[in-house]
Amino acid sequence: MSTQLSRNETAWWREADAKHHLHPFTDTKGLANEGGSRIITKAEGVWLTDSEGNRILDGMAGLWCVNMGYGRKELALAAYDQMLELPYYNTFFKTATPPSVELSEKLAKITPDGLNHVFYGSSGSDANDTIVRMVRHFWNLARKPTKKIFISRNNAYHGSTMAAASLGGMAAMHGQADLPLPGFEHVMQPYWFDLGGDLTPDELGLKAAEALENRILILGAQNVAAFIGEPVQGAGGVIIPPESYWPKVQEICRKYDILLIADEVICGFGRTGNWFGCETFGISPDIMPLAKGISSGYLPLSAVMVGERVAGTLIEDGGEFYHGFTYSGHPVCCAVALANIRLMEEENIVEKVRSKTGPYLQAKLNELADHPLVGEVRGVGFLGAIELAKDKATRARFADVGTTGALCKDYATGNGLIMRAVGDTLVVSPPLIMSKPEIDELFKRARLSLDMTAKDLGVM
Ligand code: PMP
Repeated sequence: MSTQLSRNETAWWREADAKHHLHPFTDTKGLANEGGSRIITKAEGVWLTDSEGNRILDGMAGLWCVNMGYGRKELALAAYDQMLELPYYNTFFKTATPPSVELSEKLAKITPDGLNHVFYGSSGSDANDTIVRMVRHFWNLARKPTKKIFISRNNAYHGSTMAAASLGGMAAMHGQADLPLPGFEHVMQPYWFDLGGDLTPDELGLKAAEALENRILILGAQNVAAFIGEPVQGAGGVIIPPESYWPKVQEICRKYDILLIADEVICGFGRTGNWFGCETFGISPDIMPLAKGISSGYLPLSAVMVGERVAGTLIEDGGEFYHGFTYSGHPVCCAVALANIRLMEEENIVEKVRSKTGPYLQAKLNELADHPLVGEVRGVGFLGAIELAKDKATRARFADVGTTGALCKDYATGNGLIMRAVGDTLVVSPPLIMSKPEIDELFKRARLSLDMTAKDLGVM
């Protein structure tokens, strides 16, 4: 470590970071070549501040999670009070704590009917690992022990542990760890812009649902345990499914007695304009993992909501479930989640996203559709995607997919806006408390970044 640098200087943080910190989803060598990490030091509302004093508009709510925005004293105080009262106790071996009980009761109330039981973890990934173990145990108990295979979609994201990454459909992740594990299958995603060809979006939705049915028939329904899908695929590029998709998928799951799992890690807690994405898309899942927005990201917490069929069997016939985490039902995380849900209710934030700020954000997003670089915009609630394409009519991509998206994302960062690039799709998922003037600012900066990219490509 250089002795000349002090901790007041960005260079000190960057140097220490590069030397010792292995980052998730980051090319460490590339990072060093590009001058090191951006160091975020503070945040308030929807604004981040970095170590250079720049203010950056957070169009991604951190990683799709800071739904109630930064700097909420109510959440900090809930953590402080709970830490003084009882900073930790576990929920193993017939023990509970008041926050873990209260949150369970609250989640049973606010989630869709029939989901009345909850198993806690600390991340979306461990929630999905829990589901794999729980579902296999369930089918054993239900005397259908051959039902073990999980079907998911290409490009799905369900987390980074071995089972969660196997559920996910990200080829790059699979490649680095010899995944998926046996027993995980992937089918077509309902991604009209890329896969629609001459079909209408609804025809494509049905085609994607039929891909599920065909796979079930190939595998044998007696071998398939569950289908898992995000109501809207998030990390895969904010893929809004055509209206035909989910009803058909649900019908297929029921027809073959396959459990339906809606991964609500991103869509839950207001993101799509309802408390849960299932309500927006008319899905009645058997199981529903939650994380991120449950605590607005202030502390790590996940919850697997389990419906009567699975929970009833586990409780009646399962005996001890040999599964759990030291931090399952952590009292401080649960107290913060309770305070976060209370805040959401007091500020009527879900209704606001559904009928006021959500439609406003979608209208602003739609204004970008006429930009020469933009092939399509799509969104729901406080989720939005901007597809960059060489040709709007044919939906032809730019050569070397990902380069244009990365260029535009870098311009956005320079213009003080965090967006994410998924290939050549730019996505936004802002804090749900974002005001109309802040939404204006977001799209002003997004358009400027698109213009700068277009100039570079000689399109403008
Ligand atoms: N499921 C979905 C739909 C997600 O988007 C994510 C994270 N982006 C996860 C699961 C994994 O959550 P975590 O990163 O908390 O493990």
